[in-house]
Amino acid sequence: MSDRDGKIWMDGQMVDWRDAKIHVLTHTLHYGCGVFEGVRAYNAVGGTAIFRLEDHTERLFNSAKILRMKIPFSMDEVLAAQKAVVRENKLEGGYIRPLSWIGDEKLGVSPKGNTIHLMVAAWPWGAYLGEEGMKRGIRVKTSSFTRHHVNITMTQAKAVSNYSNSILANLEVTDEGYDEALLLDCSGFVSEGPGENIFVVKDGVVYTPDLSSGALNGITRNTIFHIAKDLGLELIQKRITRDEVYICDEAFFTGTAAEVTPIRELDRIELGKGDYVGSRGPITEKIQSAYFDIVNGRNPKYAHWLSKV
Ligand code: PMP
Repeated sequence: MSDRDGKIWMDGQMVDWRDAKIHVLTHTLHYGCGVFEGVRAYNAVGGTAIFRLEDHTERLFNSAKILRMKIPFSMDEVLAAQKAVVRENKLEGGYIRPLSWIGDEKLGVSPKGNTIHLMVAAWPWGAYLGEEGMKRGIRVKTSSFTRHHVNITMTQAKAVSNYSNSILANLEVTDEGYDEALLLDCSGFVSEGPGENIFVVKDGVVYTPDLSSGALNGITRNTIFHIAKDLGLELIQKRITRDEVYICDEAFFTGTAAEVTPIRELDRIELGKGDYVGSRGPITEKIQSAYFDIVNGRNPKYAHWLSKV
């Protein structure tokens, strides 16, 4: 991914993609204290636009605050950097990755005395869990790894270090042929996917784990709250057990990368009922299509969530 044309914004400068490098003694590389975002730009009606850019950027600053890192750029500078990267790389749509890390002045667990850095890269990225998965739904397995406890790592920070847990869970189940993992919290309740929030539908009501499960406060998750309200669906945040997922009518993952991805199977149990057992359910389909209308600028109510580049 490093040897290609393009530009990456690095500490205030647009640098050639190939030259966007850091030293091997970078503190974050050794101890995992860093924060990042995943943002998407869409080839929307009226031109390329970044979805919920302010919300993602605010979460980036909040993640840094939680990890006691001071990003040396203003919110406005980081907003502008993300737009500039999409423009410079001539992307019509794609994924944007801002990441803030601790520099290489000194090693040792304490990061004190090190500089804080920020970069923003962007590249084209299609359906995270595959086009087929978006239509048919994906096959998920409960991971043997527990999601972070809220007082071990900070679960409301999109922190680099949180993702070794995600990687373990994802590798564990994809090695067995599943598409994605589901992680339970320390008490055994459903938390989230390695990079996705989860929703289940039962008797027309939409449920998602509350944030005490250690799930990230996903921006797509929040978008689903708005969509559910618009569709007249009741949405409840609560503790969810894994067997509640087994007997739900529909389930789906959400995330900036995953967008709205139906789940057709958990632990080899086909989800759903009637003629949509083991496939995308009707409420999921409605929510998914409302989501794509919003991100692609086809719903004027949410035009304020799209920042033109
Ligand atoms: N949980 C985790 C662990 C994630 O990495 C992500 C992706 N950022 C999400 C949930 C979904 O968050 P969002 O909708 O803001 O992308």
